[in-house]
Amino acid sequence: MEQGVFQIGPIRPPSEANSLLLRVTENCPWNKCKFCMLYKNSAFHTRPVAEVKKDIDVMAEYRDRILTHIEECGEYNMEAIQQDYLSLPSDEAKICYQMVFTWLTEGNKQAIFLQDANTMVLRPDWLIEIVCYVRERLPEIQRITSYGRANTMARISAEDFKRLRAAGLDRIHSGYESGSDKVLEMIGKGATQEDEIIGGKKVKEAGIELSIYFMPGVGGRALSDENAIETAKVINEVNPDFVRLRTFVLRTGSLMEELQASGVYRELRDMEKLLEIRKMLAHIDTKKAHGKITSDHIINLLQEVTGYMDKDLSWMLEYIDSFLALPELEQKKYQLARRMGFPLDWKYLYRMQPSDQSRVEEMAKNIVDEKEWEALLHRFTDRYI
Ligand code: SF4
Repeated sequence: MEQGVFQIGPIRPPSEANSLLLRVTENCPWNKCKFCMLYKNSAFHTRPVAEVKKDIDVMAEYRDRILTHIEECGEYNMEAIQQDYLSLPSDEAKICYQMVFTWLTEGNKQAIFLQDANTMVLRPDWLIEIVCYVRERLPEIQRITSYGRANTMARISAEDFKRLRAAGLDRIHSGYESGSDKVLEMIGKGATQEDEIIGGKKVKEAGIELSIYFMPGVGGRALSDENAIETAKVINEVNPDFVRLRTFVLRTGSLMEELQASGVYRELRDMEKLLEIRKMLAHIDTKKAHGKITSDHIINLLQEVTGYMDKDLSWMLEYIDSFLALPELEQKKYQLARRMGFPLDWKYLYRMQPSDQSRVEEMAKNIVDEKEWEALLHRFTDRYI
C-alpha cells in the first residue's frame, strides 16, 4: 500500500455520510442479489488485519496533522491545511486527507463505518481485534457501525455478538429488503425470513443496534401484499432500531430485467409502491415494534414518512392518506417534481422556480398515457440508484 493512503470502498449508508470509512473487506461475498449491480465484476477478499490496522494508523496520523493547524482562537488555519494537503505525494493520499478533514470538521467526528458489503463475514476474533484497534488509535470515536447480511448474522453465535458489542461494535446495517421468503428467493437474496428473525434477534439481544432496509415494490405486482405483510411480520418479531425505506426501482442492466422479460416479475407503478408502504405500516404492531421508520433516500416518494413506530404510526398513515386524497393532477405534479429531485413535501411545491412549476404542471396534465407516465418517472429514478 502506498504511503499515506488508506483504502476506501464504494458505498456506505446515508447516515454515515461524513463518517470515517474503514475498508475491512473488499466487495461482496454473496454477490447474487438480482437487483444489485454494485460489485458484480469484483471478487470478494478479506483484508489482513495488519493491513487494516495500518489504515487506522494513517487515519490517526492525518487527524494529528490536521489538529496541529488549529490556532489559539480555536479556528483551523486553512492556509496551512491547504499547504499540507498540496504537499501530499499522490491524489489518493489527498483523498484520504480530505476524508479525515471532512470527518473532523463537517461530519460526525465520533463515527466510523466498516466497509464493504458484509463485514460480519469476517472471523469474529479478527473483527474484534480491528474494532479494539479503532478504539485505541481513534479514542474520539463513539459509534462503530458495519453492514451484515441476515444469513451471516444468523450463523454468528450469540456469544460472539456479545464479544463484538463488548469490543465496541455499536450498530449493524442489514439489507433485509423483504420479509417474504417468496420475494427473497425470487430476488436471489440468499437469506430467509427465519435468518432475518434469528440473526436480528441475536444482534438486538447483544445490545447492538439494528438498522434494516426494506424495498417496497421489490416483489412486483404478484407479491406486493406478501412483501408488505411478511416484512411487517419480521419487523414485529425483531423490533429493529431503524427501518430504512428504499423504494424499489427496476434498474436498467440489472438481472431483474430477466425476471421481467420472463414474466415472473412485473414492476408496480410508482403510486402502487406507496400503497405497499402504507400496507406494511398498517401491519406494524406498535406494542412490539418501537424503532424508527426513516425515508432517508431520494428514491422514496414521501420523504416525510418518518417517525417512531410506537408513537408516530398513526401520523405516518394519515400523512400518506392525505397525499392519496389529493386530486390526481396534484399527485402527479408532486410525483414528477419529486422524481426530478424536489426534496420537500407536496405542500412546498410553490417553492420551485416558476418556470419549473409550469413545466411540471404541463407534463402532468398532458401525459395521460399510463405507460408513458411511468416511463418518464422511471427515467428520473433510474439515476438515483
Ligand atoms: S448482499 Fe448486498 S452488496 Fe451483496 S449482492 Fe446483495 S445487495 Fe449487493
